[in-house]
Amino acid sequence: MKIICIGRNYAEHAKEMKSELPEEPVFFFKPDVAILRGNRFYIPEFSNEIHYEVELVIKICKVGKYIDEKFAHKYYNEIGLGIDFTARDIQRECKSKGLPWEKAKAFENSAVLSKNFLPKTQFNLNQINFFLQLNQNVVQKGYSYNMIFSFDQIIAYISKFVTLKIGDLIYTGTPAGVGPVKIGDKLEGFIEDTKMFNVEIR
Ligand code: MG
Repeated sequence: MKIICIGRNYAEHAKEMKSELPEEPVFFFKPDVAILRGNRFYIPEFSNEIHYEVELVIKICKVGKYIDEKFAHKYYNEIGLGIDFTARDIQRECKSKGLPWEKAKAFENSAVLSKNFLPKTQFNLNQINFFLQLNQNVVQKGYSYNMIFSFDQIIAYISKFVTLKIGDLIYTGTPAGVGPVKIGDKLEGFIEDTKMFNVEIR
């Protein structure tokens, strides 16, 4: 199983990061051990600035390579929610040196994932609302309509480079409002009115 994450897929988030809008999807990987087991996230000792990034996650249900955008909808049938935890201090350093982001993005437990996924048939895929609460205050609000690249475009693009396999996860990018966590914080993610996960920061 692989985890693929899309960067800069919401214009407002690209703006807050002072990044250019991408002309094609930006993607990177996390390893399978990035999936957080349980609901406690321990701040790793190598970073002083771990940020939350709430993201819709699609789960691949069919093997494919060079998937045409018009058939891409057949390759996923469930939507989940996750957090792409990012060591922002390390990412800044990597970016400034022109180095890859793995240290900042692909570390152990950096991927929160909802236990449950929701059938995509229950949504209009362009109109999915999701949000993240930090200590019961909404800090990020996303609406899939605002994605620069749609689920189908993402699948078509990634599958040019790598075969997608059953169970692969795609984190589809975060909306604006990312920010740091500290010990004792509680994060809760929702799709529409459904609570998808809760995480406690230790
Ligand atoms: Mg992200």
